[in-house]
Amino acid sequence: MKRTILALQSLLPDEMVKLECDYKVVRLWESNDPDKTIRDYANDVQAVLSTYNSGGVSDRLMDALPNLEIIAQFGVGYDNIDLAAAKKRNIAVTNTPDVLTDDTADVAMFLMLNVARRGVEGDVFVRVGRWSSGPLPLSTSISGKTVGIVGLGQIGQAIAQRAEAFNTQIIYHSRSEKDVPYVYYDDLEEMAREADFLILACAGGPETEKMIDYKILEALGSRGFLINIARGSVVDEDDLLLALTNKTIAGAGLDVFANEPFVPDAMLKMDNVVLSPHVGSATHETRSKMGMLVIDNLSAYFEGKPLLTPVKLAS
Ligand code: NAP
Repeated sequence: MKRTILALQSLLPDEMVKLECDYKVVRLWESNDPDKTIRDYANDVQAVLSTYNSGGVSDRLMDALPNLEIIAQFGVGYDNIDLAAAKKRNIAVTNTPDVLTDDTADVAMFLMLNVARRGVEGDVFVRVGRWSSGPLPLSTSISGKTVGIVGLGQIGQAIAQRAEAFNTQIIYHSRSEKDVPYVYYDDLEEMAREADFLILACAGGPETEKMIDYKILEALGSRGFLINIARGSVVDEDDLLLALTNKTIAGAGLDVFANEPFVPDAMLKMDNVVLSPHVGSATHETRSKMGMLVIDNLSAYFEGKPLLTPVKLAS
């Protein structure tokens, strides 16, 4: 008999076909009454397929699924999963690192280039016919600037490589110093003071919550730009709005927000902000690789083999 997976969201069609060949998949996102669906399959479910934007995998959900053995996250970040609750129940957790690194780093560069060089603004400027009335205001050079990366993990390092090719100097802040040719700052505020572009590429969760507040934005300064491809929770969004309104910083490029898909109204009206709807990994190629990694982790688990990409549950 096929094992049962509770899927909070769909994989891409090809990967969904593969998954449904091997498992009975309960498609929770299609249910009109998710609580009832969970109750109906409670004793059967051995795995949950989760994604960041499909709500949390909470202590309560795990409680409702007494035979749950593994949570396979479609994404590298897992701040939507209660890891302590999973550990308490001996539930394995996997994620999809590495396969999404390049695409997400590309989005960071896209935001950095667009906000500094007025890319999106220039496109609108041409489309609405304002070019005939005069030139677009001047923009800001990338070359020769200092890029401060918060979180020099897989994506942070891929951003550093790309930014180096744009002739910038790289500095970084992480929990620990790495063996890399970039200057490390133990103190985030000190690094922000040195940076022209502050790029957030760290993990979300309680440890980094609102790490970027008004004090850090003031340190970044009126010629500095904030780029966030990490998590909306890393930034105090009220402080960011204030800093953008009173020009404490020059601008921001944002792929993630505190309360997605809600974006503060005030931000929608700002021309020193480039907005993107959480699309770091959102390409056909990468989403397909992420789906295959979810499937391969589930297969490894149920065949008793080592997990390909386990999330380490704190001891
Ligand atoms: P990773 O390799 O695990 O890197 C995470 C980095 O976060 C590490 O460098 C870590 O520092 C740093 N970090 C964690 N807590 C920190 C803290 N308190 N202060 C400073 N740095 C801290 O993961 P990744 O693959 O690069 O992904 C990074 C994050 O990007 C994910 O967690 C996810 O939230 C986000 N993401 C967003 C998108 C999108 O669509 N926008 C797509 C993919 C990922 P240490 O190395 O010193 O521990």
